[in-house]
Amino acid sequence: MIKRAFFAALLSAATAAHAASDRNPPPPGAFAGAPAQYTQFTTRELMRGFLALAFGSDLRLGVRPKGVRRFDRNITAFVSSDASVDRKAAMEQIIAEYGEVSANLKISPAAEEDDADLVIHLIDEGKFKDALIDAFGATVADAFVRRTDPQCMTSVKSRGDGVILRSVSFVIADQGDKVFLDCAYHEMLHALGLSNHDQSNPWTTLNQRRMVGYLTVYDRTLLKALYDPRIEPGTSRQQIRRVLPQVIRGIKGK
Ligand SMILES: [Zn+2]
Repeated sequence: MIKRAFFAALLSAATAAHAASDRNPPPPGAFAGAPAQYTQFTTRELMRGFLALAFGSDLRLGVRPKGVRRFDRNITAFVSSDASVDRKAAMEQIIAEYGEVSANLKISPAAEEDDADLVIHLIDEGKFKDALIDAFGATVADAFVRRTDPQCMTSVKSRGDGVILRSVSFVIADQGDKVFLDCAYHEMLHALGLSNHDQSNPWTTLNQRRMVGYLTVYDRTLLKALYDPRIEPGTSRQQIRRVLPQVIRGIKGK
């Protein structure tokens, strides 16, 4: 009996050496009580996240895109603030942080909302559903709220070939730092093409059971991979499986 327990312990130690490691505290600016993060991941752990998060979404309207969705160009972003708490500057700083993730996705400020590729609406929680109705009409807003009971949301409009035309996000600004930061970092990942959730992934901000509120090494790596030149809009799941290990090794080597 004892021998068997010992063997099991050895086995788990050996597994741990190859799994998520190098735990770091949350970075400055994170909300009080934000979770720590692991900073080293295996290729398999990163592939699992990419395959779960870069395909599918909570609610799809229109044709199913044939592969991953992402922008195919440098983009502009606009933050509109209708909230009772002014978090425009904080949101713009978060967008700038995302704009530094990949040399293939520069994000610069747009002068007008209408010209922007990516729009973030900062709103009060009490106006959330009305804002969705304004933006998408009552039918879509109702369906979305009924199916997902969201706190914040992002709508990504893309072409059939996977190129994102425009992303529009709604982020709650009047419910404290924790809700704002969690929503802001979470919705930005959706807006840039990681559309889905994975409630069993312990590392991503796109696990709705976690509140993270900063850009983790894990999510940053997934985003870098999505914008790697070897992965294009429309790249299929099968092609991703082939090319992703090489892409991830390249990112980890840097
Ligand atoms: Zn989400």
